[in-house]
Amino acid sequence: MQTVVIGAGVVGASIAARLAERGAEVALVDQGAPGGGTSSTSYAWVNANGKEPRPYFDLNLAGLEAHHRLSADAADGGGWLGTGGHVEIAVDDAHRDHLAARLARLAERDYAAEAITHERAAELLPDVRVPDDAQLIVHFAREAYAYPALYLAHVLGQARAAGVRVLTGVTVTGLRQSVAGGGEALLVDGTVLPGDTIVSAVGRRTGELAALAGVDVSMQTFTTPGDPTVGYLAETGPVPVRLGRLVTSPWLNVRPAGGGRLLLQALDLDVTADPRDVPGVGSALAAEFLRRLRDVVPGAEGARIERLVVGQRALPGDGRTIVGRVAQAPWLYVVATHSGVTLAPYLGEGVAAEVCGEDVPAFAEFRPERFVADAAYEPVGAPRTPGEQ
Ligand SMILES: Cc1cc2nc3c(=O)[nH]c(=O)nc-3n(C[C@H](O)[C@H](O)[C@H](O)COP(=O)(O)OP(=O)(O)OC[C@H]3O[C@@H](n4cnc5c(N)ncnc54)[C@H](O)[C@@H]3O)c2cc1C
Repeated sequence: MQTVVIGAGVVGASIAARLAERGAEVALVDQGAPGGGTSSTSYAWVNANGKEPRPYFDLNLAGLEAHHRLSADAADGGGWLGTGGHVEIAVDDAHRDHLAARLARLAERDYAAEAITHERAAELLPDVRVPDDAQLIVHFAREAYAYPALYLAHVLGQARAAGVRVLTGVTVTGLRQSVAGGGEALLVDGTVLPGDTIVSAVGRRTGELAALAGVDVSMQTFTTPGDPTVGYLAETGPVPVRLGRLVTSPWLNVRPAGGGRLLLQALDLDVTADPRDVPGVGSALAAEFLRRLRDVVPGAEGARIERLVVGQRALPGDGRTIVGRVAQAPWLYVVATHSGVTLAPYLGEGVAAEVCGEDVPAFAEFRPERFVADAAYEPVGAPRTPGEQ
């Protein structure tokens, strides 16, 4: 079986590796370098925490568990996954109520979530200032953070070892059905890549790529600063603080970023995020990230922001994952999702299975057909409060 996977982000690279391990002949194509899309600008919190409705929660839980399983089994050590869980601290009434409701719901589903005392929080987060007036603190012990570049290195290594041909710096500019009934991807350099199945895993470019095959897949695209497709991420230089897990506070989300660096996210600040006009590391926005960081992690007093980016989400119109063959062009299989870092290992396994003729029941709620012309759906809003992204 011959397949073409378009897009070498965390999702496409995972699919390519699993397909080749099943014996398929695979070409993985990217217009840039692997990981140059949204996968390089992600908070990369691996979780199913606030993911609703239930089928979307189940999908993300499968992603979280796949990360744990694959990293435990990885011959290269599985160093892309930072375990130790996530601690969320609620101070005001609204956040406490939201967190308490989530805790109750997640506990019913046997998701590792436990209310903890100030003392326990201080043990888990020795260098974090846990506010005296915190009303509720929850430890989500199984949640994790990922280093997307290291995950990508892992799966690309597996893909190459299984025989995947990786073509970089070549844009796919056309898609069509072949005479034999499969598909063909037309590259900008004139090359034609045939595939029994063509898998589209181009993240936020999914709408454009599917349109090349005359297929309508609804994706949200950036229109105005702060819309749901965009968000800031700030990365510090190395700081001498002990932080081994994710922290969500009302003012700031913080996680380790490797080598003593910290990755910061503040959803309320995203209202000005504009990929055409990204503030510099000396900007007022960078200073605000640092002010919040010093409040949450006092030992980070010497921190500097070394990287400030606006990430652009791969966001299906209704916010939920798209995964499946396209009814009117069955040679085309489309995958697009927010939460792509959480989902990549599970999608890799599941999409490879479906391309090879199996059916993955967990994907049933996420088929592309829901976007047939004029179908009504609820557009997703921007994440602004803790636990939403
Ligand atoms: C601010 C922010 C925070 C986030 N936080 C989290 C989080 O905490 N947890 C989580 O799980 N997820 C999070 N995400 C989402 C996650 O990062 C993405 O869902 C994931 O990276 C998408 O990966 P992908 O492989 O689908 O897409 P991408 O990484 O964008 O890869 C798509 C690839 O397709 C290529 N491509 C596009 N068009 C073509 C073409 N015509 N021809 C050839 N190649 C093409 C691109 O060059 C690119 O490399 C966040 C995203 C943002 C922006």
